[in-house]
Amino acid sequence: MSALVDAIARIRRDVCTLHAELTRYELVVWTAGNVSARVPGHDLMVIKPSGVSYDDLVPELMVVTDLDGVPVDGDADGEWGNPPLAPSSDTAAHAYVYRHMPEVGGVVHTHSTYATAWATRGEAIPCVLTMMGDEFGGEIPVGPFALIGDESIGRGIVATLRGSNSPAVLMQNHGPFTIGPDARSAVKAAVMCEEVARTVHIARQLGEPVPMDPGLVAALYDRYQNVYGQ
Ligand SMILES: [Zn+2]
Repeated sequence: MSALVDAIARIRRDVCTLHAELTRYELVVWTAGNVSARVPGHDLMVIKPSGVSYDDLVPELMVVTDLDGVPVDGDADGEWGNPPLAPSSDTAAHAYVYRHMPEVGGVVHTHSTYATAWATRGEAIPCVLTMMGDEFGGEIPVGPFALIGDESIGRGIVATLRGSNSPAVLMQNHGPFTIGPDARSAVKAAVMCEEVARTVHIARQLGEPVPMDPGLVAALYDRYQNVYGQ
């Protein structure tokens, strides 16, 4: 077994396990939503298959594709093989992000209710919570309206997140995409994005949230990203 085959087996397990977090935090319904991970050091990624129920996901069903979103199963013998399933219909968007943001190791997409409600209005979530300062370093921005099926979603994600602290973008009339240095971080960003979308929405029902000073937001972000934790 080559190191690459071992790495793919491990990443398939990780990506499969992380999908359970999307259902655990109620970020997805039916077969919507997807997690992918880059295969470090190779122009490959691992992503959920299209149209499979979350209950039926197992590591072997995770699809390995190149960074154009085309399934690859290794050498002529099919070194690691692929299931007879198409990769997620959002594969082109994930692949575009990996091609254009080399620092990204994981991408997540959901239609989680509150974040998608903000996306529906095309409204960025203002940074009015200390945990938003910590996790997002500012507002969660809105990306352009883009149709599924080609590179427009990927282009919109990259154009919006490049130069932003936020690992989450609300694609207009669609829903959140999140990125991270690995797939687990991208899943965490998807969970936190929904959490702050819900809290700020509820705050709005009662009045206008108090803005936070940008200098304090920057200090929160710096401390959380560079000092806090292990
Ligand atoms: Zn979608």
